[in-house]
Amino acid sequence: MSNYKINTKCVQGGYTPGNGEPRQIPIVQSTTFKYATSEDMGKLFDLEASGYFYSRLQNPTCDMVAAKIAELEGGSAAMLTGSGQAANFFALFNICEAGSHIVSSSSIYGGTFNLLGVTMAKMGIEVTFVAPDASEEELNAAFRDNTRAMFGETIANPALTVLDIEKFAKVAHAHGVPLIVDNTFPTPVNCRPIEWGADIVTHSTTKYMDGHGAAVGGAIVDSGNFDWMAHADKYPGLCTPDESYHGITYAEKFGQKAAFITKATSQLMRDLGCVQSPQSAFILNLGLESLHVRMPRHVENGLAVAKFLEQQEQVVSVNYPGLESSPYYEIAKKYMPNGGCGVVSFELAGGRAAAESFMKHLKLAAIETHVADARTCCLNPATSTHRQMSEEQLAAAGIPAGMIRMSLGLEDKEDLIADIKQALATI
Ligand SMILES: *Cc1c(COP(=O)(O)O)cnc(C)c1O
Repeated sequence: MSNYKINTKCVQGGYTPGNGEPRQIPIVQSTTFKYATSEDMGKLFDLEASGYFYSRLQNPTCDMVAAKIAELEGGSAAMLTGSGQAANFFALFNICEAGSHIVSSSSIYGGTFNLLGVTMAKMGIEVTFVAPDASEEELNAAFRDNTRAMFGETIANPALTVLDIEKFAKVAHAHGVPLIVDNTFPTPVNCRPIEWGADIVTHSTTKYMDGHGAAVGGAIVDSGNFDWMAHADKYPGLCTPDESYHGITYAEKFGQKAAFITKATSQLMRDLGCVQSPQSAFILNLGLESLHVRMPRHVENGLAVAKFLEQQEQVVSVNYPGLESSPYYEIAKKYMPNGGCGVVSFELAGGRAAAESFMKHLKLAAIETHVADARTCCLNPATSTHRQMSEEQLAAAGIPAGMIRMSLGLEDKEDLIADIKQALATI
């Protein structure tokens, strides 16, 4: 599939049926797999042969969908996880351990911010947050001898900042560590971070990839470009024998292109078990088959609504990297010439009360804790996720009480704008 365009990969990547085999990917709804001799099975347990033995580690349906995502991102190997949270945790924990340090953009998804700043801290893994717009000097200054990974989001949820992937990759590589990029919002249809120097790409497939709000899931893609053996002192987990598999060394046995995903599967999935179900993987694949058709519409609707909002007197400011007024306009054009995503955030004059009235009167856009699906939805942090904060605390956190995050779906943009217009009139 590697010579085909991304549109073709979305539809047919990851699975090519043989004669008489199902045209749609089969759902292998089985926890386990049969073998003729225990010697046959023993080889799988020793990682001497590849094959399936238990769906906590690998399942054929999940592997077909992972292979499609690897093709879409231009990676060498990929795996599915049970959620986006699991994908980011596994991607980091595969190369970090107690005593390690991570440099991360501060402008990331709240769940990931908490994972890094609170939960991984309890495991003895420290993080230094850097501004996404930090200079190279500032980024360099955040690194330590024990830094093992650099992390950021292509378009951050919900701040909508855009990561300068080339700059982050350059700094990470100068310190001999890989750059991990969460590419959930643009999807590989609009940006492929590996082409700009990212080493590992993660996804919450719950968002645009599924695209219908139907299945929670995640994915990790390895570029195969990071030379672990050249930094063997930093990555003993990949570059020294694993006693839990009779002393194999991943980077030697599986090579630069497969070591990272093989280790994450055979160690982290084995021990932590955040698997995606074959049913969910099947649903995810249905979403992927139309991802290249849906993304341009999300972008079209996002841009149309952002431009409309900019002209309304009830709106104080609009955040959307596709707007010429955005500080991220130029960088977004560089990394995402066809647009980024359909999520827009804006601030209403009149704070919490205005936001409440506006949202209550929307007819098409539903109030939901979600983004990136076919149906337009929105959320007011001040009355939902950040409800406990006072006006002063909200201001200090950079979340104005009148701020609304809206994820534009696939409806007709004229209907969406008319809906927003009538709701604005009620303020
Ligand atoms: C939603 C989201 C996650 C978390 O994914 P889940 O599938 O909800 O676990 C991680 N990163 C980004 C950018 C997200 O939007």
